Amino acid sequence: MQVPVTEIHQLDAPDGTPNDPLRVYRTMGPGSVPEEGLEPWRAPWIEERDDTGVHEARGRKLEDDGRSAVRRGAPSQQWRGRKPEPRRARPGRTVTQMHYARRGVVTPEMRFVALREQCDVELVRQEVTAGRAVIPLNVNHPESEPMVIGRQFLVKVNANIGNSAVTSSISEEVAKLEWAAKWGADTLMDLSTGNDIHTTREWILRNSPIPIGTVPIYQALEKVDGDANDAAQFAELTKRAWEHDVQVMVEGPGHIPLHKTRENVERQQELCDGAPFYTLGPLATERDDALSKARSEFRWRDQFGLGLDPVTAQEYHDETLPAEPAKTAHFCSMCGPKFCSMRISQDIRDTYGSADNQAAIAGMQRKSQEFLAVGGQVYLPEPALREPDTATP
Ligand code: SF4
Repeated sequence: MQVPVTEIHQLDAPDGTPNDPLRVYRTMGPGSVPEEGLEPWRAPWIEERDDTGVHEARGRKLEDDGRSAVRRGAPSQQWRGRKPEPRRARPGRTVTQMHYARRGVVTPEMRFVALREQCDVELVRQEVTAGRAVIPLNVNHPESEPMVIGRQFLVKVNANIGNSAVTSSISEEVAKLEWAAKWGADTLMDLSTGNDIHTTREWILRNSPIPIGTVPIYQALEKVDGDANDAAQFAELTKRAWEHDVQVMVEGPGHIPLHKTRENVERQQELCDGAPFYTLGPLATERDDALSKARSEFRWRDQFGLGLDPVTAQEYHDETLPAEPAKTAHFCSMCGPKFCSMRISQDIRDTYGSADNQAAIAGMQRKSQEFLAVGGQVYLPEPALREPDTATP
C-alpha cells in the first residue's frame, strides 16, 4: 500500500554534508481536471466488502438546487463528469469504520491512515473502537484519501467554504476546494447556503481528495425559505450514535472568547466520553476583547482596524461586500443574511434578554403550565400542593 507524501528536497550543508529529503503529510491529492474529477480509487475496497449495494434513489430534482435553479430551469453549471450510482448499506449491514473496528476487522482504510500517521494500525483500530477517533469516509465519496481524527493522532485542520445568498459560483467553490487541499486542509466543510447547492456539492465531491462535510439543514431550508435553529443535545446524540456504530465528531461553537476555549474543550470531553472535538476558526485568530466586542456589534470597520493586517482584512471583506452599508451590516458573505448565527443570537437577546433573563422566562412559563394543569385554581386542597411523589393518597 502507498500513501501520499510531499518530499521536500534540501540543499547540502555548507560543509558539503548532504541533507536528506524530508517527507511530510500531504493533503492535496493527485490533482484533477475540475470538469472530470478524480479517479474513484477507493471503490474496489468498498465493493470487495460486499456490504453495500446500488441504491435506487429517487433521482435528482431541480428543486434540490434551490428556487433560483427552478426559476432558471437548470443549475448554472451542470456536472458532466463521472456520475456514480449512489450506494448504501445492504439491509441489516453497517458500513462504518467504527463497526468494522469493533468487530476486530482491520480495513485497508485503517492501514492507510496508520501509514500516514506512522503508527501501529492496532492503535488506529482501538481508538476508532473506543470512539476517541474517527475515520470520516463515505461510500459515496470513493475519491477521498483516508485520514483519521483523534487525540492520539496529528492535529487536523478543517477549512470552511461555501456559497451564500451574497456570492455564488460553482467554479469559485471548486477553486476554493483546490486551494484548501493544496495548503494543507485535512477536511473541508461545504457550508453552502445559496444557489445550486446540489450541483456545487457534486463538483466538490468528485474533485476532493479530502473528506467533505455538509450541513444538510441549510439545503433543506434553502428549499423552503426557512430559518436556522440548532437545538441538538450533543452528549445524548453521541451516545445514541455509538449504539449504532456511527462515528461521532462534535463541532463546538464558534465565536467563543479565547479564554473560554479550555473550559469548552474539557466540558465537551467529559460530556461526550472523549469523542473528537472540532473547534472553530475564530478562536485562533482572535486578538483581544476589543476585536471580539467589535465583531459581536457588527462594527466591521473596527474589526479591520483592530486586525493584524487591516488593509488585507478590508480587501477580503470588500471582494464580496464593497458597499458602504455593508460596513455595518449584520452579516458577512460567509453565511449570508439568513444564516448569520451572530445576527440570530443578537435577535434572540434583543427579544428575550440575557441568558439569565431567558432562564427566568422559561421558569415563569413552567410555573404557568403547572398553574393551568391544576385547573387555574389559586387555592388548592393540601395534597395538590405537595410534590407528586410525596402526596398522600
Ligand atoms: S455571516 Fe455572521 S455568523 Fe457567519 S461568519 Fe459572517 S458574521 Fe459570522
